[in-house]
Amino acid sequence: MWLAILLSAIVMTAIVGVRYLIVSGAFAAVTRARHPGLYRGLDAQMRREIWWSIASAAIYGVPAGVVAWGWQYRGWTQVYTDAHAYPVWYLPVSVLAFMVAHDTWFYWTHRWMHRPKPFKLAHAVHHASRPPTAWAAMAFHPIEAITGAVVIPLLVFVIPIHVGALGLVLTIMTVMGVTNHMGWEVFPRFMWRGALGGWLITASHHQRHHEQYGCNYGLYFRFWDRLCGTDNGLGDFAKAHAKAAARGSRGGDLGDAGRGGPRHAA
Ligand SMILES: [Zn+2]
Ligand SMILES: [Zn+2]
Repeated sequence: MWLAILLSAIVMTAIVGVRYLIVSGAFAAVTRARHPGLYRGLDAQMRREIWWSIASAAIYGVPAGVVAWGWQYRGWTQVYTDAHAYPVWYLPVSVLAFMVAHDTWFYWTHRWMHRPKPFKLAHAVHHASRPPTAWAAMAFHPIEAITGAVVIPLLVFVIPIHVGALGLVLTIMTVMGVTNHMGWEVFPRFMWRGALGGWLITASHHQRHHEQYGCNYGLYFRFWDRLCGTDNGLGDFAKAHAKAAARGSRGGDLGDAGRGGPRHAA
């Protein structure tokens, strides 16, 4: 039994790790195509982001693996496979419920990690990326990774969800984690401007968190930030892009100059 649980944890770690490499790698490639030179001179930082993220994958994989084993062999959790077990309208509701619960947990743990002591101990690693790149999505200190890793494995015990809807939740989580750190806005304007943008979090919102620290703590929704007065509006990418251009004219950071072959100007 212990061997099966261990195996499940290893498989989950591999899935989380490979998922990270594929999604971050894909968006990093899109960034190179859309904004050539944006990550120029950040090679050492990106290597660090990747190592922290791989370590985080193991931390995410263990609780997920244990719960996946319990789901399969012990009937744990409220995850169901029969699409008709609940009414059809419940599918989007369950996805939204997971996102709202995760967002709430994230807002308050994230805000706590911005207090001086927890910041130094647990969250400075994530903010060491200046500016973050598509590889920073899971660049967390192990303590921060634990706070993130337990959320979904706990929620599946509380909120019934179809296995496919759970897959969607995990996909949204992964894609938003990557795109929020990418250094530019991949989503159409209506998602981050106007009425909808007033409530949704995309890269422009999280960019400001990485610039100003004490604001914009949310994950998916601006609800808690707005309610608690910590919403500082949207950032823009002009400064980060100008810095990248400046790094380009200097020929990249020392030590990483010339790495990764020829680059084009932004
Ligand atoms: Zn933060
Ligand atoms: Zn971040």
